[in-house]
Amino acid sequence: MAGPRVTVLGSLNTDISVPVPHLPGPGETVLAAEAASIGTGGKGANQAVAAARLGASTRMVGCCGDDEFGGRLRAALVAEGIDVTGLRPVPGAASGLALITVDPAGENAIAVAPGANALAGEEEVAAAFSAPCDVLVLSAEIPVAVLAAALRRANAGGWKGEGGAVARGGGRRAWKGEGGAVARGERRRMRTVLNLAPVPEGADRVLAGRPAWLVVNAHEAGVLLGAEAVDAAQALAMAARLAAGETGRGAAPGSPADPGSGAGPGDRYVVITLGGAGAVLAGPAVAATISGFSVPAVDTVGAGDAFVGALAVALASGLDPAEAVRAACAAGATATTRRGAQDGLPRPAGVLAATGYRWPEIPD
Ligand code: ADP
Repeated sequence: MAGPRVTVLGSLNTDISVPVPHLPGPGETVLAAEAASIGTGGKGANQAVAAARLGASTRMVGCCGDDEFGGRLRAALVAEGIDVTGLRPVPGAASGLALITVDPAGENAIAVAPGANALAGEEEVAAAFSAPCDVLVLSAEIPVAVLAAALRRANAGGWKGEGGAVARGGGRRAWKGEGGAVARGERRRMRTVLNLAPVPEGADRVLAGRPAWLVVNAHEAGVLLGAEAVDAAQALAMAARLAAGETGRGAAPGSPADPGSGAGPGDRYVVITLGGAGAVLAGPAVAATISGFSVPAVDTVGAGDAFVGALAVALASGLDPAEAVRAACAAGATATTRRGAQDGLPRPAGVLAATGYRWPEIPD
């Protein structure tokens, strides 16, 4: 049986980090105490690496430049066993780049040049649907038109199932399956997980595309609804409002007349992540607070990406919604115990060691 299949349509960046004694002011040059470090990142790439390390057969779709950084970004994904046939080097474009200065207290100032990420377009939407997957992750560092188009296509049926009876959840010993089976040749619908981080201009347009899952952190939920939650109870109420299709921006996502197959108001799952406090989940017949795992956190960069990648694997593997969020919390917590964004993304053994959560066994 095929293992869980995850496709990520999103961004790739090179992160150049410079440790400085204090953040430079306007016109100021600050000498770093140590050498700069160059790493691979970008939300999309981080989420793909998280999914691959946690056992999914993973594809990354996006754009990089045809420069040296683009080559490194591709090589880093290939080293993780990720399929990069949907990664397009754009002639003449620069790869996405984040310049990060960090002071001794951990405060940072970041400038991001989206570069090729901003050039993602129809080709990437086509590439995302050129091979089957169980979960399509869409993250917000690429143009909103691309996210909206991908959601439209997913709701219109996505790709045609490859055939073969697939017992959802069957054969995955440690996982609770969803039951049911997909008959030979029947269309298997991919599920979409939209991570609106950061919340882009035009977010309402994307939400109107009816993602099956929406994942945001507390700050992003506040941007969508106009006020940030102060505790988990408020966050849960906000997740329920977002699941019902509300945003403070006056849109009614999921309400278009088209009665198609995507998630409409009331049948979408919404997760708001709450850092060390875990996450809340609202959706059809569920309203749950999932406690965080207590870990010695040293660097929370990348926790959200670990969470999203892990959630995709868990859903693609047949976990029920609340259990999938719990698995994602374990992965997010583990990511905080290590430094670096992509470097800190966990494998199942690391999740077990850091949190005691046994990442489900995935059959070959
Ligand atoms: P983001 O990185 O996008 O701001 P969060 O900070 O909410 O997102 O973190 C995402 C998830 O990672 C949380 O839901 C939680 O499960 C886990 N996490 C983050 N910080 C911690 C922490 N200090 N201790 C334990 N788990 C954490």
